[in-house]
Amino acid sequence: MPENTKTALVIGGGPAGMEAALRIAQAGFHAVLVEKEPELGGTLRDLHSSFPRWENPRELIDHRIGLLTKSRRVTIRTQTAVMSSVRQAKGFRVSLKSLGNGGREGYEDELDVDAVVLATGFELMDASVYGEYGHGIYPGVMTSLEFEGQLKTWAQRAGDIAVDAPHGVALIKCVGSRDRSKGYPYCSKICCMYTAKQAGLVKDLFPDTRVYVFYMDYRASGKEYEEFVRQVIEEKHVRYIRGRPAKVLPEDGRLLVRAEDTLMGIPVEVAVDMVVLASAIVPRPGTLLLAEMFGARTDEYGFIENEPFEPARSSERVFYAGGCGFAIETAGALNQGAAAAAGVTALFNEER
Ligand SMILES: Cc1cc2nc3c(=O)[nH]c(=O)nc-3n(C[C@H](O)[C@H](O)[C@H](O)COP(=O)(O)OP(=O)(O)OC[C@H]3O[C@@H](n4cnc5c(N)ncnc54)[C@H](O)[C@@H]3O)c2cc1C
Ligand code: SF4
Repeated sequence: MPENTKTALVIGGGPAGMEAALRIAQAGFHAVLVEKEPELGGTLRDLHSSFPRWENPRELIDHRIGLLTKSRRVTIRTQTAVMSSVRQAKGFRVSLKSLGNGGREGYEDELDVDAVVLATGFELMDASVYGEYGHGIYPGVMTSLEFEGQLKTWAQRAGDIAVDAPHGVALIKCVGSRDRSKGYPYCSKICCMYTAKQAGLVKDLFPDTRVYVFYMDYRASGKEYEEFVRQVIEEKHVRYIRGRPAKVLPEDGRLLVRAEDTLMGIPVEVAVDMVVLASAIVPRPGTLLLAEMFGARTDEYGFIENEPFEPARSSERVFYAGGCGFAIETAGALNQGAAAAAGVTALFNEER
């Protein structure tokens, strides 16, 4: 059988993009996987452990990188940016620029591709908008993504007596999400779950640390999700307090979280060493530029949107997957990567 010569450009090397590139190659077509960072893996590289099964995200990344590097139909280009694109009769001519790669910095080349998959992920809203929580002012206040790094550092140094266990950690949910006045009206979908995970991980590392989760609601609607949160509350003894904290204040070298417990109808104050903000999930600014470049649809926030009745396709020859479309957990990003690949291969097969 003659080799299929059609090529898809996949932009973003997180789980969604890795999956899309892999499945396109497995279907017999070529994929060029472009990632701006030096390594594949996306946000998973920053995570310490993964809900809902407490898995090590590194294992998934290494597994997929192993398959991608073995495939002769996948070209991986890390530290690379897509600079421009020109629409052609059946595809795009794109210009790629090297951002590093030992001496190749600034090198530009052109590539003809027959379809594009956008898989650029999401980022977290700037939490300093909430001045009352002190992000960027008090060193103990961090975003949930920054806290994943802290968890990793603690885990790497487990057993090191020089590591001071925190006396208390408070995690605040819905920061910027479901807030029409300063943030976004939507629910960011995954923060109930990763906050439970982070709270549970603190208890695993430091069983004597007091861990509080401040919540307005908790949403755990996925396979094994409710059981996961229950385990964190009942077996790991994380205290969930219903209420939105009004303020975080420095006091005697610690942080005082002031809130109202809306179930009990009483004011609460907890003194902790760290405050973790689960801030809203938002599109990366670069995604909007790519959407303009390739004529992809976007919604009012800048997330990529699908064509009617085409869940993985955003416009002609442009598919998308994962967090660039909205907040999503890793399993969902992988599924969407596979769905985008199915869209690409169906198109390529039709044109053979
Ligand atoms: C704090 C936190 C904790 C989480 N914990 C969990 C968990 O426990 N379990 C779980 O299932 N999920 C968890 N998630 C969600 C998980 O991170 C996402 O589901 C997953 O990363 C989405 O994959 P993605 O490929 O869509 O995006 P990403 O992982 O963000 O990957 C996108 C990639 O695209 C690259 N990129 C972006 N723009 C460009 C560009 N212009 N050119 C080239 N490359 C580009 C980025 O560098 C990145 O490598 C968590 C998320 C956060 C924020
Ligand atoms: S997923 Fe949970 S924490 Fe995140 S915005 Fe929705 S309700 Fe709030």
